[in-house]
Amino acid sequence: MLTDNHGRKINYLRLAVTDRCNLRCSYCMPEEGIQWLERKELLSFDEMLRTCNMLVTAGIEKIRITGGEPFARKGIMSFISDLAKLDGLKELTITTNGVVTAPLIPELKALGIKSINLSLDTLDRDRFYAITFRDELPAVLNTIDTALAHDIHLKLNAVVMNGKNTEDILPLVALTKDLPIDVRFIEEMPFNGDGHTGQEIFWDYKRILDHIKTQYPAIAKIQDPPYSTSYNYQIPGHKGSIGIIAAYTRLFCGTCNRIRITPQGTLKTCLYDNGVLNIKSLLRDETLNDTTIVSAIQNAIAHKPKDGHEAERIRDVSNPVHESMATIGG
Ligand code: SAM
Ligand code: SF4
Repeated sequence: MLTDNHGRKINYLRLAVTDRCNLRCSYCMPEEGIQWLERKELLSFDEMLRTCNMLVTAGIEKIRITGGEPFARKGIMSFISDLAKLDGLKELTITTNGVVTAPLIPELKALGIKSINLSLDTLDRDRFYAITFRDELPAVLNTIDTALAHDIHLKLNAVVMNGKNTEDILPLVALTKDLPIDVRFIEEMPFNGDGHTGQEIFWDYKRILDHIKTQYPAIAKIQDPPYSTSYNYQIPGHKGSIGIIAAYTRLFCGTCNRIRITPQGTLKTCLYDNGVLNIKSLLRDETLNDTTIVSAIQNAIAHKPKDGHEAERIRDVSNPVHESMATIGG
C-alpha cells in the first residue's frame, strides 16, 4: 500500500499522456498553444505501461488517462486496451474534451470503460468558440449523446470564468433534470501557461452555489463519495447531480489520495508542486530495476505536502506557477 506522511492512502494515479490538444481553452493555454514537447521527451507507451504496472502492484487502484487531449496521441486506444488488462487495477477512466471521442465510444465501452469526464464550459456555440478558439461544440454534444446511448457514466466539468461563461451555469444545471449526468463546476485555477496573477477569484464555490440557488432554492447537499474533490448536491426530481470543485480555494486537500505523472514523466505528488521526481530518467537507466524505481516513488509520496497551499509556498521560492494544465493533466 502507498501511504504518505500524513497517513493518507494513495491509490489514484492521474496519467497525462500528451501535452497536445485540439482545443485552446483560454484557462489552460494561450491561443497559439504552448511549446509542445518533442516526441523523445514524452514517456513512450511501453514506459507508461511499465510505470502503471509497478504502481498498481504497489497499491494504485484507479488510473485516469488525461492530457492535453488524450485522444490526440496516436496509438492511445491500444495503450488503453493494455492498461485495461492490468491485474489489480479496479478502475480505469478518461478525461477528454469530447472533440474526437464520439466514434471511439463503442470501442471504449468494449474495453471496460464505465465512466468518462468530459469538459464542457458552455452550451452556446459562439461562446464555445470564444473560449476554445475552435468550432467544435456539435462534436462534443455528439460525444455526450453517444456515451449516454452506450450507458457510459458522464461527469461534465465546467470551469467557471468571470465574464466568459457564467450565463451557462443555470443551463448546465438544467441538463441534470432529464439526463443521468453529474455536472461539476470548477473554480478556475492559475494554470493557463501564462503565470499566476495571485488575484482572488470572483466565482468561488460559494458564489457558484448561491447563483444556482437563485433558480433552484431546493437544491440539497448529498453525501460526497470517498475522496471526492467536489461538494455534491441534487435538485429534487432531477436525474443527475451537481458538484462544485473548490480547486482554487483548495478545500479538498485533506483527503487527497492522488499522484500525477506528466507527459514527460515527472511525478507530482500535489497539483501545486513543481514536480518531485523524474521518473523518465529512472526508467531509462538500465541499471535500475522496478523495485528501486518504486522505492523512489514511495519516498517521494512520503514527502507529499499537506495541502496545495503548502506545496505552492515551497515552489514559490524558485518557480512561481506558470504551467499549462495541459502539461499537468488537471
Ligand atoms: N483535454 C482534456 C479535457 O479538457 O477534458 C483533459 C485534460 S484537461 C487539462 C483536464 C481538466 O482540467 C479539464 O476538465 C479542464 O477543464 C481542467 N482545467 C484546465 N485548466 C484549468 C484551469 N486553469 N482551472 C481549472 N480547471 C482547469
Ligand atoms: Fe485542451 Fe483540455 Fe486544456 Fe482545453 S482544458 S486546452 S481541451 S487540454
